[in-house]
Amino acid sequence: MTDERTGSDQTPEAPGPNALGLAFGIIGDEWTLLILRAALNGARRYAEFGAAMPISHAVLTTRLDALVAEDVLRREVYQRNPVRSEYLLTAKGRGLWPVLTALWRWERRWTPEPTTTTPSMLHAACGREFTPDFCCSACAEPVTAQDIASSWGPAGGWRRSVPAVHTRRRSGSRRQQEYFYPATMAVFGNRWSSAIVGAAFMGLTRFNDFHDKLKVPPTLLAARLTSLCEHEILHQVVLPDRPDWSEYRLTAKGLDFFPVIGATASWAEHWYHEPAGDVLDWTHRSCGAAFTGVFRCDQCHQVLRGSDLLQHLG
Ligand SMILES: [Zn+2]
Ligand SMILES: [Zn+2]
Repeated sequence: MTDERTGSDQTPEAPGPNALGLAFGIIGDEWTLLILRAALNGARRYAEFGAAMPISHAVLTTRLDALVAEDVLRREVYQRNPVRSEYLLTAKGRGLWPVLTALWRWERRWTPEPTTTTPSMLHAACGREFTPDFCCSACAEPVTAQDIASSWGPAGGWRRSVPAVHTRRRSGSRRQQEYFYPATMAVFGNRWSSAIVGAAFMGLTRFNDFHDKLKVPPTLLAARLTSLCEHEILHQVVLPDRPDWSEYRLTAKGLDFFPVIGATASWAEHWYHEPAGDVLDWTHRSCGAAFTGVFRCDQCHQVLRGSDLLQHLG
């Protein structure tokens, strides 16, 4: 998913983040991911969410309210006296299962220690323990980031795709190894990290290009690039004949994050579609079709459905 850098970043951009910026703004928060995972596993009541994760009342309330405001959850009163509500996934919320599945796959592959968020998962349709393969919906072949040509669509553009900040991110008081999504939070833990990784998938490699396109302040950019290299999402390449020239390129681990971006982009384009058109135009190079990703079971090769596996996510 590189090279074609055509795009609308020359044209005046509408204010505010586009679908991709909005989507990454919503899901780019560890507590939100844990709440979504619990909801997809059947949690509905406040106490059930509280029991599923070591979260404070204040943070849980803030995150649930934010998800209700985004129409990812809806609050429904189930008891009048005293009033008690439960939180149900909307169609929009249920539509996030591919994103959680993509994160589960990536964390399992790249985090040395298994975490509570990456237990093995069974495919209900075939009964086998499986790994989801990210595949082209048109030709059914598994795809990697390099198989996809991407350019900005009418709603695209660098600045508008920077994640919106919805909730205050994690406080940083917990230590790194206590993350439930340790690899994911290296990308999601900061809106600029998400934007830089997205830009790297669009083909940017140089400090000045990240700076020019994303308008990220240089000191922040340097810090985020260093962090992404430390987490082995990017690696710095110094060209032997140009000691003054270095590039930041996605590692194998970074490139393998593509299904998360693909699943998030599909959800975003569907739920935050602008009349002008899509944020991204993707083409599967080998079959030539406009690319939409689907997950298939690596054991039986059937297309996965949320109902096939969600009960086993936790
Ligand atoms: Zn294809
Ligand atoms: Zn299967």
